[in-house]
Amino acid sequence: MLNKKIKIAVSSCLLGEAVRYDGTDKHIEYITQQLAKEYNLISLCPEMAVGMGVPRLPIHLLDDGYSVQACGIEHPENNQTKPLTDYGRSILDLHPDICGYIFKKNSPSCGTDKVKVFNIKSGEYEQRGQGIYAATIMKALPLLPVIDEEDFLNKRMQVEFLSKVLKYAEVYL
Ligand code: SF4
Repeated sequence: MLNKKIKIAVSSCLLGEAVRYDGTDKHIEYITQQLAKEYNLISLCPEMAVGMGVPRLPIHLLDDGYSVQACGIEHPENNQTKPLTDYGRSILDLHPDICGYIFKKNSPSCGTDKVKVFNIKSGEYEQRGQGIYAATIMKALPLLPVIDEEDFLNKRMQVEFLSKVLKYAEVYL
């Protein structure tokens, strides 16, 4: 099985694709220039995949007292929770052989933890959320190694992550 490169999914903006809401990227050269030599990197942008387009009005996580949703900051009626959740579920069928995921930190779609959540009751942001799309994938595949780009650039955490990816590939491919 391991004569092919192991697949790692990566948030598209980290690969230099200008898919952020404002038409910019968050390119991490180490990922495209070094990691890509050893791994098959799969570019995934959930907000583009669900048709939000570029440029787009930004969304944030909103806690209405019942649940946390991904909604437009200026237009809360622009609720993207279901599309982002559905797309997260579809990835399990589209890419059943990914062995790790590098997510963009702090995104209401891709963030793995401590994403800002606007609490309607208090009127304040709290750093306690998970991106809707990332949460869907992490819940469905709790053993899949995941990391955000900030932790990935920490050498010790990067080595740990890649070691988990290799083990995951050995078990599941
Ligand atoms: S953080 Fe996720 S949703 Fe936002 S631009 Fe990057 S890949 Fe797309």
